[in-house]
Amino acid sequence: MNAPWHILGAGSLGCLWAARLQQHLDTRLILRNKAQLKAFQKHASIQLFDSPLAVEPSVHQVKAELASAKDTITKLVLCTKAYDALDAVKSVAHRFTDKTQIVLLQNGVGSQQAIQQAFPHIRLIACATTEGAYLKEPFCVIWAGHGVTRLGDFGEPKAQPQWLDEWKSAGFNYDWTDDIETTLWRKLGVNCIINSLTALHECSNGELTRPQNMVNLLAYDLQDLMIAAKQPKAAADLHALVWQVIEDTSRNQSSMLQDIKRGRRTEMQYMIGYAYEKAKQLDVEMPAVRKIYQQLCEKIDSLGLPVN
Ligand code: NAP
Repeated sequence: MNAPWHILGAGSLGCLWAARLQQHLDTRLILRNKAQLKAFQKHASIQLFDSPLAVEPSVHQVKAELASAKDTITKLVLCTKAYDALDAVKSVAHRFTDKTQIVLLQNGVGSQQAIQQAFPHIRLIACATTEGAYLKEPFCVIWAGHGVTRLGDFGEPKAQPQWLDEWKSAGFNYDWTDDIETTLWRKLGVNCIINSLTALHECSNGELTRPQNMVNLLAYDLQDLMIAAKQPKAAADLHALVWQVIEDTSRNQSSMLQDIKRGRRTEMQYMIGYAYEKAKQLDVEMPAVRKIYQQLCEKIDSLGLPVN
């Protein structure tokens, strides 16, 4: 029998992944604490609205447990924010075996390396997903955008994991790559620009045509950084990619702007904060990135939100 899937973090993506996997495979949700477990056990299910316009949700019975449970974990999907990722993995490390693999859904760059350093013997599969989801209420998720998840080994590429067949049978739209690092860096470049500027100016993605010059200056800086970081494939045509994403998502609000509006901690240190620190390490001059990073820190601090 196939080993169960464990989903760590019952937020937007965690509920989406759990509800979808559960329809085909043994799936367990790992919850934060006893209070959350008790709240979940009232219905012991996740409600999934297939789109923001869907009238009725589908209901999925899912098993739930705490990190402290004893049974081993073979396939883990980590669904926390980037800043919670390492602590969350540590909380279940007593359940790992030499077969354990972890799928990392975190946005940005930095959390993957931190986990790799702490767990060098665990196979890590990093993702860049365009799936979109948000919670209507706890354990009730709206699948806002049906997207694609690109994934690949973080570190040495290996043969595709056999469990991809399980994702296929569960209807996941995925794309395996032997070079997830380039994908993560390209997405980092896009996120550094779009998330930072939309959060700073409190505007939709499409409205970035107004600070057009700053979009281009940031893209030049980030290309310099990518070259210095030996990521030339990520640097290629970065401007064109960023403008294409702005056009394709013109009506969207970036995740950083949404976090700021909801008074939630942002993932800025895994986006522009990562680029800023990496530039310092590699001694790359990035005047536009430095300026926007500092303005963003000031804004987030003035709102009483953590800057780390
Ligand atoms: P989210 O809704 O905030 O969910 C994260 C969940 O993880 C929260 O329920 C959080 O609990 C839980 N958590 C954190 N630490 C935990 C721990 N130690 N043990 C158990 N649970 C823990 O975030 P999300 O929107 O799903 O995003 C997850 C990641 O995917 C982020 O990096 C995000 O940028 C990326 N992403 C999201 C989307 C999307 O559409 N939502 C799309 C693409 C990428 P608390 O609430 O108690 O902290």
